[in-house]
Amino acid sequence: MEEVIRLENVKKYYEVRRGFLGSQSLKALDGVSLNIKKKETLAVVGESGCGKSTLGRVSLRLLDATDGRVFFKGQDITMLSEKELRDKSFRKKMQIVFQDPYSSLNPFMRIGNIISEPLEIHGYAREETREAVLKALEDVKLVPPEDFLNRYPHELSGGQRQRVNIARALVLGPEYIVADEPVSMIDASSRAEILLLLKSIRDSREMGVMYITHDIATARYVSEKIAVMYMGEVAETGPSSSVLRNPIHPYTILLLNSVPEPNPANRRTRRLVIKGEPPSPINPPSGCKFHTRCPIATERCRTERPSLVEYAPGQLVACHRAEEVIKGSVTVA
Ligand code: SF4
Repeated sequence: MEEVIRLENVKKYYEVRRGFLGSQSLKALDGVSLNIKKKETLAVVGESGCGKSTLGRVSLRLLDATDGRVFFKGQDITMLSEKELRDKSFRKKMQIVFQDPYSSLNPFMRIGNIISEPLEIHGYAREETREAVLKALEDVKLVPPEDFLNRYPHELSGGQRQRVNIARALVLGPEYIVADEPVSMIDASSRAEILLLLKSIRDSREMGVMYITHDIATARYVSEKIAVMYMGEVAETGPSSSVLRNPIHPYTILLLNSVPEPNPANRRTRRLVIKGEPPSPINPPSGCKFHTRCPIATERCRTERPSLVEYAPGQLVACHRAEEVIKGSVTVA
């Protein structure tokens, strides 16, 4: 399948002023590489502040990378101006679905107008606009679509509003979508439905999707690949089936162990939680950034930064002790 998005060694640094200490840089992304193909979802997983939302926005060119390159279908778009991104249709081809289905819809606009707005901005003719809006509503299963055109957001449930958000992202015919925590604010009963809907639309429209989430459990339903991020770096990445079944990086293992067992009968009495908060990104730990929270850290971890190494087909891990974890000579949890 054709590649839609490729990031090469992307960095995003912010200068932060710290009183008399002068300015220091906050490394939101520190050398991230990934790619997403058509009909493929990459789940980007990690705690809040790990850089996953920044990664999504850099991949869409909504934020400029400090270093590294962004490719859309093989074309380098890293340095294109906003005008070039619009004129060459990249803006239409790359869309985002936001987390909050409540604040992201204008309460005074009808659903039909909310969805048609991006088309009007891009100068579509009236008839074309109506057709595209009806098709988008149908795709997100708000049917019959004519019944939804004149409604207002407050007349819809949280799940339905998120479908409107998705329809708005779809209406320009994107080939790449970033879904940033799209189900974290809707009730649990609608979550799986929305995720499965996204997956089926992805297949029928042949899109690539970056699914950003703090919840590694939902990743297994919708993604073919996973990238686990910690403090602006990829700790582990690979096919979802391998990473979820045989996690190697201690952080991935701890994240998976902290997910509650869905069946209460099997639930352990004590849920494992990851010790401590992530350290300050302005003054990150030396060596492996996870060493302050890692139960198997050694002296080497405190000084030497591990790089991503392939330990199973397509499964890359940045950990000095990966081989010992695989052999079982050391256990994380
Ligand atoms: Fe833990 Fe060391 Fe591996 Fe980092 S490199 S995850 S500190 S064992």
